[in-house]
Amino acid sequence: MLLHILEIIAAVALACGLWFWWACSEPWSTFFRPVLIRGPREGNRIALTFDDGPAEKFTEQILTILREHRVPATFFVCGKNVESHPELLRRIVAEGHEVGNHTYSHLFLYFKSRQRMAEEIERTQAIIEKVTGLRPAIFRPPYGARWFGLVPTLLQRGMHMILWSATGYDWKKGTQGIVAATLRELKPGAVILLHDGQNTRQPEEIDRSSTVAALPAIIAGARERGYTFAPLRDFLPTS
Ligand SMILES: [Zn+2]
Repeated sequence: MLLHILEIIAAVALACGLWFWWACSEPWSTFFRPVLIRGPREGNRIALTFDDGPAEKFTEQILTILREHRVPATFFVCGKNVESHPELLRRIVAEGHEVGNHTYSHLFLYFKSRQRMAEEIERTQAIIEKVTGLRPAIFRPPYGARWFGLVPTLLQRGMHMILWSATGYDWKKGTQGIVAATLRELKPGAVILLHDGQNTRQPEEIDRSSTVAALPAIIAGARERGYTFAPLRDFLPTS
């Protein structure tokens, strides 16, 4: 009998643990809110976002493709990468794209104190402002990992938390796979996650050539399906 009760307790604890993991890490989870995962269902607008830059070569290649195809995008940058490549962030802004905060060091936010999260966010806001004169109003947590205290930290600064509803899984797939996965996950209002950099690694350790190669086909495929690329700010609640 006792064994039976212990088994039940263990099962319940495991279920709670799994649910909690899901709540903190799954992009679709609204456990921590307010959060923007997907834009309006009406209309056929979608928004393209790139994380982890700016990165030598790849950010530039992506910007050139976006310019050729007249597609607006949002870049969630790490403060540390902006320190290395301020000129790339200036080009992002000069070409009309939006900038979001992605922490200073690509910090995994689980179990982090509110103070530690605020430091990472604030340090990045200051660097972006120094380089561009702008303070982003949007934030995306690295790995999509959220933790207690994050939302109030953002709200205090008038910032929105942005996750995503579609991705090309470009951290594990090759070019064809990235195109196929992205197009499969498109729905009206989709917020698409891709990467122009890789955490805060050194240039020689970063390879986003598959994402770069996939981008023209993603743009063409989305347009064939009747979607229009919109700036992410169009998806934010108006206040
Ligand atoms: Zn990231």
